[in-house]
Amino acid sequence: VRDHYLRVLEEIRQRQLPTEISVKLTHLGLDLNPKACLQDLLALAARAAAAGSFLWIDMEESRYVDTTLELFQAVRAAHTGVGVCLQAYLRRTPADLEALLPLAPAIRLVKGAYNEPPDVALPKKRDVDAAYAVLAGRLLQRAAQGEARAVFGTHDLHLIARLRERALGLGAAPGGGAWGAWGAYEIHMLYGIRAAEQRALQNEGVPVRVLISYGTHWFPWYMRRLAERPANVWFVVRNLF
Ligand SMILES: Cc1cc2nc3c(=O)[nH]c(=O)nc-3n(C[C@H](O)[C@H](O)[C@H](O)COP(=O)(O)OP(=O)(O)OC[C@H]3O[C@@H](n4cnc5c(N)ncnc54)[C@H](O)[C@@H]3O)c2cc1C
Repeated sequence: VRDHYLRVLEEIRQRQLPTEISVKLTHLGLDLNPKACLQDLLALAARAAAAGSFLWIDMEESRYVDTTLELFQAVRAAHTGVGVCLQAYLRRTPADLEALLPLAPAIRLVKGAYNEPPDVALPKKRDVDAAYAVLAGRLLQRAAQGEARAVFGTHDLHLIARLRERALGLGAAPGGGAWGAWGAYEIHMLYGIRAAEQRALQNEGVPVRVLISYGTHWFPWYMRRLAERPANVWFVVRNLF
């Protein structure tokens, strides 16, 4: 898996693509050997830097959060071009965000995709949405000061509209931040979902990136994502028809 991503990053470099990669640590052997996983991450971060790209670390089930954040911090100490995903549904995330902010981190905030017990994650969607808005506001504040790269990984257009207003109020307009062309904040969405809105946002000056899963195993990957959270099936069906 590491060698595959190294080759992808080499292609990104050669073709000068404005592409970033996002990896799951369990794909890099986190369960088998966290030390080897860290070495792989360091190799990927170095190659991403050489390619003018960026390395994102996905967040998986809650049992991986501690190790994922530890490895993120270890790689971040050596490379600036690495970011991590935080999940708004986890009760621990406000504390995790505060702990990461002194690093001037790149954070992709998502609602969270796994089935977690209620003592670990907020069970009600409206509570998750509210938690997301608070966390995003905090991240935007730092991004407005040039002290974070804020990425909102969501298709929730109502939430995005609120965040854009909040950003305007903070002077964190897209395109004006310390992260160069990407501005103070960006929206990331999944490939094929809300495609028209992705274009509309981009046309309005909000940087939008599209996350694409690819390769020969995309179908099992996709089915696993659906199995993790049956509510996702509805989104997919709605999107198809
Ligand atoms: C770029 C990106 C990276 C992500 N990385 C992670 C990660 O590392 N770890 C993790 O746990 N989760 C990750 N997720 C998934 C995330 O946690 C949510 O499960 C997912 O984005 C759905 O939540 P939402 O914010 O879009 O809002 P929701 O409130 O769930 O959805 C808002 C609206 O968007 C539409 N919508 C949402 N999802 C879909 C869909 N799949 N198909 C069609 N329509 C849809 C629906 O109309 C819905 O009403 C990622 C999501 C994105 C976009």
